[in-house]
Amino acid sequence: RSASGKDPLANLNDEQRAAASHVEGPLLIRAGAGTGKTTVMVRRIANLVSQQFAEPEEILALTFTKKAAREMKERLEQQLGRETGKRVVTSNFHSFCADLLRRHGSAIRIPEDFSILDDSDLLTMLARVAQSHAICSPQDTTTLRAILTRISAYKEEGLSLDMVPSTDHAGLSAQLRADPPVSQDVLLRAWRELDALKRAASSLDFGDLIVQATRLLRRNPRVRAEVANYRFIMVDEYQDTSPVQDSLVRLLARGHDNVAIVGDTDQSIYEWRSARPEIMQNFPATWTNCRVITLGKNYRSTQQVLDLGNRIVEPLRRQDGLEKSLTGVSLGHAPVFRCFSSKIEEARWIAQRIAASVEAGQKPGGIAVLARTAAGLLDVKQALARAGLKTVQATDRAILEDPATKRALAGLRLSENRRDFAAFLRLASDLGASAAEIGRIEQAVVAGRDTIPEAATRLFRAARPMSAEAARWEALHLRLDAIVSTRDMGSVPEAIREIERIFRGDTEADLPAALRRVCEAAEPFARAIDFLEALALDADFRASFTEDRIVLSTIHAAKGLEFEAVYMPGLNEGVLPSARALATPHGRMEERRLAHVAITRAKSELVLTAEKGAESSYLAELGFVESAKKTVVKRAGRRLRRAF
Ligand code: ATP
Ligand code: MG
Repeated sequence: RSASGKDPLANLNDEQRAAASHVEGPLLIRAGAGTGKTTVMVRRIANLVSQQFAEPEEILALTFTKKAAREMKERLEQQLGRETGKRVVTSNFHSFCADLLRRHGSAIRIPEDFSILDDSDLLTMLARVAQSHAICSPQDTTTLRAILTRISAYKEEGLSLDMVPSTDHAGLSAQLRADPPVSQDVLLRAWRELDALKRAASSLDFGDLIVQATRLLRRNPRVRAEVANYRFIMVDEYQDTSPVQDSLVRLLARGHDNVAIVGDTDQSIYEWRSARPEIMQNFPATWTNCRVITLGKNYRSTQQVLDLGNRIVEPLRRQDGLEKSLTGVSLGHAPVFRCFSSKIEEARWIAQRIAASVEAGQKPGGIAVLARTAAGLLDVKQALARAGLKTVQATDRAILEDPATKRALAGLRLSENRRDFAAFLRLASDLGASAAEIGRIEQAVVAGRDTIPEAATRLFRAARPMSAEAARWEALHLRLDAIVSTRDMGSVPEAIREIERIFRGDTEADLPAALRRVCEAAEPFARAIDFLEALALDADFRASFTEDRIVLSTIHAAKGLEFEAVYMPGLNEGVLPSARALATPHGRMEERRLAHVAITRAKSELVLTAEKGAESSYLAELGFVESAKKTVVKRAGRRLRRAF
């Protein structure tokens, strides 16, 4: 029994108990939504600890998102008691790698103050490289994005620049081949130059984090010895793993093979980002003596919800030949379908319905609105706000999009890593830097001698004294010096406020609302670098899913979660399934799994809505629109498919 007095194996069914009491050797838990995969992971950790097979810090539980890692930690604290639960190491892939690299990256010449680049940083960096190396027009974002997607796909594949064939070859995955064609020669040149600029700027992107951590583990015995302290490795949601992540897991488990993975191929929704569900399917074949456990009973949803969940992935069943229709806990309400003449009406109706159920005593935190994209949540969000209902949104980037916030965060980044060229580019127009000046700074960064503020200072000194040029460089270097010295402010919020003052000049004016939120969010962080990392890898401004608010989320971000009631607005053909997904057979299958993930988040209540005349073909399959309509919708679908 654990310190909290809870029996780790209490109330589990036979298969769950077998999985939770498994001790040594590889284990694969393969089962559908809501069958208790994550529960079993938590119970197994509790069992290992309470039976003294392992100390809590000898167990590493990896998830795909920070949110999932946080939830895992909470469940462990409940199970094991606060103190013991805290000691188990839970992390997501990217944070785990970032931490390893910060502490040991110097062994492979990665400076500890490296910045983490997001997609928009990469795009601006690549645009500069494209121009200076005549790769394509810096305005040609379609080509630039195609290049970035392909570089990232190679990295997820575990291939580095020197391993990739230098001539055109049968591409990686179907999706990538369909992208606007970029010749292999252009691709490799762009990759090489972008890498050089990133290295000079001490910057890594998400893909680099995993690739470099893997490289570090391969090369450095000291780091291998450190991670060997994790004697039990567990990974949730393995269906969304990419080849490079899989290699990382293999490196972590080397020597003991105590690796337990759980997943459900019906919920594989990241193939567009190089996840490979086959990796999970092949797991037993690639690990000696791997035990495979299947869980059959769903504990989350009513039979009506599951029927819909099953039906939407039926075409996949025929493909993989597996029979795994889920059976639910009990009978419940029939799922509801409504159709509206406008998005606004749809949103208003949803808000009214939610308001009524909250009025009737339903907990707001048990209600979720799930959409294909964040944009698809906007109308409902507004309607709920108008109805006076509070919401919380996963991956709400609105605050981060605010100009003052962007500027402050870029300033913070530059103060932590003075070579962060992408951060400088974000600040360039606020700093009043001209195109020529940006070019000179870029040269200095690439030359690798000076940091960015040092380069500005040197260029100021080199300019003809008293000239207009000297005056410009002086202004620039003074501002840059002021920004980087905010590092010594003592607290992260104070540094953010100071950066805002540097740009606005006035000290008295109130901070913009968005920036105030950012300061609040920064409060718990002692070091700016940790705050920036938390933002880069987990942009939702809250550990507050625990708060009792209606949850707004994309379907992707709702993976693994459950809610009493789930609303799925925007079930229109071209939205879910998305027009893009309809364009390829692969995309069509993945889209079904996405719908399956959304439906299976619901415990008892499921509400589907669409716009009249634009109804999703899925609705006909689920039996909500009559079959005469079905053909019309199908035809519309085909038209869309042809258009893409
Ligand atoms: P997903 O595929 O969506 O990630 P999952 O397989 O990880 O789902 P869990 O989230 O672990 O499933 O469990 C789903 C729900 O079922 C949870 O509310 C959990 O508490 C409950 N549950 C799991 N096992 C049992 C059990 N043996 N008895 C009662 N409830 C259970
Ligand atoms: Mg789960």
